[in-house]
Amino acid sequence: MSSMGNINGWCENIIYWFDEVSERAGQVQTQTLRQILLQNFEAEYLKQWLEDANIQEMDANALESLYTRVVPLVSHADLEPYIQRIADGGKEPLLTKEPIKFLSLSSGTTEGRQKLVPFTQYSSKTTLQIFKLGAAYRSRAYPAREGGRILEFIYSSKGFTRTRAGIKVGTATAHYYASDEFKLKQQETNSFTCSPEAVISSGNYKQSTYCHLLLGIHYSDQVEFVTSTFAYSIVQAFTTFEEIWREITNDIKQGKLNPGISIQSVREAVLDIVFRPNPNLATRVQSICEELEENDWLGVIPKLWPNAKYVYSIMTGAMLPYLTKLRHYAGDLPLVGGDYGSTESWIGVNLDPLLPPEKVTFAVVPTFSYFEFIPLHRQVLGSNSAADDFIEDDPVPLSHVKIGQEYEIVLTTFTGLYRYRLGDVVEVTGFHKNTPKLNFVCRRKLILTVNIDKNTEKDLQLVVDKGSRILKKSKAELVDFTSHADVSNQPGHYVIYWEIKGDVEDRLLEECCKEMDASFVDQGYVVSRKCNSIGPLELCIVDRGTFNKIMENFIANGASLSQFKTPRCTNNPALLKILSLCTAKRFHSTAYGP
Ligand code: AMP
Repeated sequence: MSSMGNINGWCENIIYWFDEVSERAGQVQTQTLRQILLQNFEAEYLKQWLEDANIQEMDANALESLYTRVVPLVSHADLEPYIQRIADGGKEPLLTKEPIKFLSLSSGTTEGRQKLVPFTQYSSKTTLQIFKLGAAYRSRAYPAREGGRILEFIYSSKGFTRTRAGIKVGTATAHYYASDEFKLKQQETNSFTCSPEAVISSGNYKQSTYCHLLLGIHYSDQVEFVTSTFAYSIVQAFTTFEEIWREITNDIKQGKLNPGISIQSVREAVLDIVFRPNPNLATRVQSICEELEENDWLGVIPKLWPNAKYVYSIMTGAMLPYLTKLRHYAGDLPLVGGDYGSTESWIGVNLDPLLPPEKVTFAVVPTFSYFEFIPLHRQVLGSNSAADDFIEDDPVPLSHVKIGQEYEIVLTTFTGLYRYRLGDVVEVTGFHKNTPKLNFVCRRKLILTVNIDKNTEKDLQLVVDKGSRILKKSKAELVDFTSHADVSNQPGHYVIYWEIKGDVEDRLLEECCKEMDASFVDQGYVVSRKCNSIGPLELCIVDRGTFNKIMENFIANGASLSQFKTPRCTNNPALLKILSLCTAKRFHSTAYGP
């Protein structure tokens, strides 16, 4: 009972803290900016804009208006020369006063290119804080047993590389899983990951996935919830489980480990835990799996983990397409959407774990960074700016955002990013006390554009959703998709690549192709299609396993599975080559005439 008291204690403390800073969100933001500037005003980057100001003496409000007046909005490319100098071992304070010892790799799967971002102790500290805050709200909604286990499909890239100057480079997740904060989170929330460190950081996602599943089953009665950073990893793990469950049950039965797990440190760590034959568990799992196999694995998670209360992961944005499959695996278990952040900074927390993932919003944590919001207005047809589909207003501080308005987020962080455009579009849906709740809309960058047409990730997602509904007629399902604006021949046209599970007649696929072409509502696209300045949409059906190859290609280039997001549009020659080699069938739309 006394430790139950502790659990409630830490939950209540952190929720109380968050309520308090949310109540004073505007003021807290002004103070947060002041702290960032007081810490770093001697850094070369800031000096060029703030040299004449007496930062230490200035009142926080005056400082905020000076800062937003003189420091320009930038994108990652503008800061690259500084980040490069840090990577090269520059000793002078460049972006922050304290030297940066770590650089993080953003997944780069949304931009097609990995970015290096400064990472400090502060980054791990906020990770711990947001994880605890999220855990506190979840434990209110779904009280968990103390001392329970978490089945976490998490992966960190193999150790760190170093720049020639000795600066450590790794993904944000790798930094976090290797940090003390990761251990602290388990102790403080009194729930423990099933897999030991060696499994998480094996650097081989196949071996890690196998061991995560094996250990998850080993601890099956103790698992309180199933999680990953992005929903993709859970879907990926259970798709693998459908293939390898016999090997796993065999290991459990014999208290052995499949010889395919070849990394010595992983073998030792796993065998330390699973060393006794457990025929009872193996028989139980086997009979459950045989039944599940007949049922297309519907509800595998609650069947194998009878005490799991929910499935928790980021399911919004680029993860929405995996929701159907995740629901299928989760059966009657609730799906709880994960928090909102980026390698650059954590942003907001999901305060309503009872809401379905499609409705999840994120309450901004006003102490993490200084946030500004660029109001975005959708352009009407007739503008000839093909570069973007929004008109921007001047950025506003957090305290001035309005419900129903869309914004691009701008960050000023403790890690040396100043008025940095994150490239995410969010909509304000309400407030928690005085801090805004955001709905993630999409990445800002246009992904499909040939001429005057402008389509974002979200537009593409809606179109693919509509087109793929037709697949239900033949009980097939869409596994994954991406797209490409092909302008190599005139007129240019959109190509959408689908990987499908199940057999579908060509007649139906033709229908899907036509439906997608007709479903782009962007006027630029519709007008261009009508006059044939954009050619018929092409649907390419790729072989099973193609998207796995794409994921492996990213991982081979240093991305981590925990942060992987399938690019929804690509110009990357390596990916286009994989897609073209794996295309089995092509269809051309007749939506706007033959
Ligand atoms: P990374 O650059 O790999 O750190 O990925 C960060 C990006 O992932 C963010 O800028 C968002 O575009 C996306 N993201 C992170 N959290 C969420 C979330 N909860 N919902 C939707 N998208 C998210």
